[in-house]
Amino acid sequence: MAVTDPEAETHRRMSQILVPADTPGIEIEAVPVSGHRGRGWSTHCEVTYTGVRVPAANVLGERGDGFRIAQKRLGPGRIHHVMRWLGQMQRAFELMCRYALEREAFGGPLADKQTVQNWIADSAAEIQACRLMTLDAARKIDGGSEARVEISLIKFYAARVLNEVIDRAVQVHGGLGLTDRTPLAAMLAMARGGRIYDGPDEVHRMVVSRRILKEFKTGGTWRFS
Ligand SMILES: Cc1cc2nc3c(=O)[nH]c(=O)nc-3n(C[C@H](O)[C@H](O)[C@H](O)COP(=O)(O)OP(=O)(O)OC[C@H]3O[C@@H](n4cnc5c(N)ncnc54)[C@H](O)[C@@H]3O)c2cc1C
Repeated sequence: MAVTDPEAETHRRMSQILVPADTPGIEIEAVPVSGHRGRGWSTHCEVTYTGVRVPAANVLGERGDGFRIAQKRLGPGRIHHVMRWLGQMQRAFELMCRYALEREAFGGPLADKQTVQNWIADSAAEIQACRLMTLDAARKIDGGSEARVEISLIKFYAARVLNEVIDRAVQVHGGLGLTDRTPLAAMLAMARGGRIYDGPDEVHRMVVSRRILKEFKTGGTWRFS
């Protein structure tokens, strides 16, 4: 994706161009993320193009369509992230509850300590909120809406819940939670990226508040539906 028309209106400046990976001038450098190097393949890479030339026919769609095509992928991509995260939240929640019942400290199971009970109750409420917000966004997409507000809402909200639920599960496991004897430490390392990739929390909050305030500026209100 590259800027092909710097003077065009904001959303028409970029184009997407198909470049076969064996085209001369391409360099691919692996960039491990959160310590994850992949297994025989690279998880993330930096691609450098030096003097790369391809036919004009390799432009995807029309010249200037780049932003539109990217936006089309990003909505479904973001809800898909949250759907995966729901699975991770559930896994961490189950590990937390089972270990809380099993591990005894200071005269009884961790499950009897009020702090641990609060973590379980708060996690249950927040996971259910994420599930219902995801279903709501999916329902609106199925109804033909781009569901921009709903997708941004779940993107930043579920990213925080994901990190907090896994973090609580690690805390309940004590030192064990940081070893590789449970999947929690690896889950925690990967979850952190969720607050950044496909748009950091701050940008999604900005999108949500801008769209809501736009309604109020024109004399309307924001209807939750
Ligand atoms: C694991 C991973 C996978 C990724 N995969 C892809 C991919 O497949 N395709 C792709 O194109 N990109 C991918 N990215 C890139 C990712 O989308 C960007 O890193 C992300 O959008 C943030 O952009 P940036 O890194 O340039 O941060 P910047 O834009 O430099 O922002 C840095 C920080 O500044 C703050 N900030 C930025 N804007 C605002 C604002 N308006 N208001 C308040 N604070 C603000 C935020 O705290 C933000 O985290 C991936 C990143 C990661 C970590």
